[in-house]
Amino acid sequence: MLKGKTALVTGSTSGIGLGIAQRLAAQGADVILNGFGDAEAPKASVVEAGRAHGVRVGFHGADMSQPSAIEDLFAYAQQAFGGVDILVNNAGIQFVAPVEEFPVEKWDAVLAINLSSAFHTTRLALPGMRARNWGRIINLASAHGLVASAGKSAYVAAKHGLVGLTKAVALETATTGVTVNAICPGWVLTPLVQKQIEARADKEGITVDDAQKGLLGEKQPSLQFVTPEQLGDLAVFMCSPAADNVRGVAWNVDGGWLAQ
Ligand code: NAD
Repeated sequence: MLKGKTALVTGSTSGIGLGIAQRLAAQGADVILNGFGDAEAPKASVVEAGRAHGVRVGFHGADMSQPSAIEDLFAYAQQAFGGVDILVNNAGIQFVAPVEEFPVEKWDAVLAINLSSAFHTTRLALPGMRARNWGRIINLASAHGLVASAGKSAYVAAKHGLVGLTKAVALETATTGVTVNAICPGWVLTPLVQKQIEARADKEGITVDDAQKGLLGEKQPSLQFVTPEQLGDLAVFMCSPAADNVRGVAWNVDGGWLAQ
């Protein structure tokens, strides 16, 4: 379905981004990966996912908090892949502290990586998408893009901002073949959440297993983690013709979190 398209997935060396990259490759999209840490194993897994289609998989290690690095990433995408058709803004970090104790540099980092990076990628991707009259921008927001939790002021502000950016750009592109949407996951068991589970176990003097149950029980009625593969399949749907008029939505996949 996505043969001939190039997908850029930011923050795709682990977790949700990697799951989405694999699902897009399985539909035939060439994929540009990005993120920190080892790139070889993630790259090999995406090549494998797209083997039936012989997809090409590239990598660029841009630090998404740096606008000039994001410009380098787009120069690479243009030169090596001829541009970006599917942009998945997924790179993100978390930091938890009460607002009056929130380290200023952590606030700046959360806002830069979780929100401003999507502004930069969007402004750089849109001209090519408009010229081809086809494009998909998928922003990984969060249940925290729609509701808040204590201790997560920067993350909640950034994710609400990302939902707002999604709606504004969806309106600016509404008469074109470019759609812009957000996915708002509940808990997904990735390194980002594993750190929070371990911190909770530490703080409450309980086992990691009990901390995991506590985390789910507090917010997610299904008591099950959402999986990167499920989010990847939703991204594939958003890339399909059936979603040509899905525009500006913030689609929660949260085991019932927002229904409460
Ligand atoms: P993760 O920690 O597993 O992956 C984050 C990815 O972003 C990694 O590839 C990492 O290398 C990359 N990254 C971090 N800082 C970067 C930077 N400055 N520049 C480039 N890459 C950078 O996290 P995840 O849970 O897969 O989260 C992915 C996205 O989904 C994030 O935006 C997160 O906020 C969002 N999200 C996660 C959950 C969850 O429960 N895990 C829920 C809702 C939303």
